[in-house]
Amino acid sequence: MTGTGHRIGVVAVQGNVREHVAAIERAAPDGVTVVEIRESGVVPDCDALVLPGGESTTISRLLRTEGIDAEIVAHADAGKPILATCAGLIVASRDARDDRVETLDLVDAVVDRNAFGRQVDSFEAPLDVAGLDDPFHAVFIRAPAVDEVAPDVDVVATWEDRPVAVRDGSITATSFHPELTDDARIHRLALFDRLPATA
Ligand code: GLN
Repeated sequence: MTGTGHRIGVVAVQGNVREHVAAIERAAPDGVTVVEIRESGVVPDCDALVLPGGESTTISRLLRTEGIDAEIVAHADAGKPILATCAGLIVASRDARDDRVETLDLVDAVVDRNAFGRQVDSFEAPLDVAGLDDPFHAVFIRAPAVDEVAPDVDVVATWEDRPVAVRDGSITATSFHPELTDDARIHRLALFDRLPATA
């Protein structure tokens, strides 16, 4: 695992920001800096990004009004890692089948926004995740599912036969909230294991 000297940005316009910062700090080797991103101009200095859960319609609107959307796309085009979770997965997808969400088209997949129900239907489950030796305790909250994936997108985990974690190049996206448990393995896998050796 590498990461010393790297800067990890958590997109902080709305959603589960604090939990992701804490999860990155648990996963990170010494010397990693975590920054919260609320305005344009910060993403270009980041080596990896987290796009948190929250409310995808709000997040996509704020990314656009703040001018952060194009910077995230440029980060992805440069092959730098991104972990997108829940609403972050929705925003990162090619199509969320909802005109209120302006997706960034980072993950070549179509998502069903509330596939696993509304708030009352939140649930937790042990998930087998490709690349992890033991199941990951996954917390799903009004979770989306991936409906259609392009052939070059890897399905990393499924629940009830539906993809709930996918990888498209340097982007890892999950339907669930890995930041809500003490287990930092998904952050490590998606961010630190994908960084170059030195910043
Ligand atoms: N389904 C929600 C949305 O559309 C996402 C829920 C979440 O991020 N916990 O934004």
